[in-house]
Amino acid sequence: MANSGVIKKRIVCPKCNETTISKLYTSVNVTNHPELREYVMNESLFKWKCHTCGYSANLTYPVLYNDMKKRFMIYLIPRIDHFQLADKALEEDFKNLKHINKRIVPDFNTFKEKIFIFESGLDDMAVELTKLAISKIVAKNQGVDESEIKEGYLSMYNTENNTMGFTYFIGEERSPYVQSARLEIYGKSKSVVNELAVKDKKLKGFIRIDREWAENILYRYKRGRQVAKNSSKW
Ligand SMILES: [Zn+2]
Repeated sequence: MANSGVIKKRIVCPKCNETTISKLYTSVNVTNHPELREYVMNESLFKWKCHTCGYSANLTYPVLYNDMKKRFMIYLIPRIDHFQLADKALEEDFKNLKHINKRIVPDFNTFKEKIFIFESGLDDMAVELTKLAISKIVAKNQGVDESEIKEGYLSMYNTENNTMGFTYFIGEERSPYVQSARLEIYGKSKSVVNELAVKDKKLKGFIRIDREWAENILYRYKRGRQVAKNSSKW
């Protein structure tokens, strides 16, 4: 599947009931079609417009994003909650591709974040762990429970200033809050990931790397340190 895939679909307008035949991208190869990257990032690729009345809406459907040069593939599957993609045919298509980061994501914001992470040459597992560690600091500083931090995304990466920044959304009103962090924290996260996520790094299929995944790694890391502490008493 080297090229971008397009299907034609009849969509009935929810406003005027007329049918429009629209082109939908089911896969996007930005190495062969670099212009599509921008359409993804500004979401215009997913905009649908009724030819009759002009009503427009955002479409939500599975899309595979493929950057062969930077060696990553992101599969947006709305609301997916599995850790691994259970699509045998697709796995079969891509099983011989080695050293490619393959991810599944459940929503648009995560989709764009993963593209940003991999384009920046970062390890998304380490970014996820860093984001979790920083979110705990934000919760403490803001005097809110950790569960009040609903979402967070990498929003800035600057090697000159040695910082990365995350935008978190806090509470029911989802107020945005930006917190920056020194890259040393990312470096530390990376060494933890390299030690504890060996198995996940070897997986050949599409996997979901998110907060839940990072919490599991953090739990194992803390437990490991506890064991080391206890055994050193002997
Ligand atoms: Zn219409």
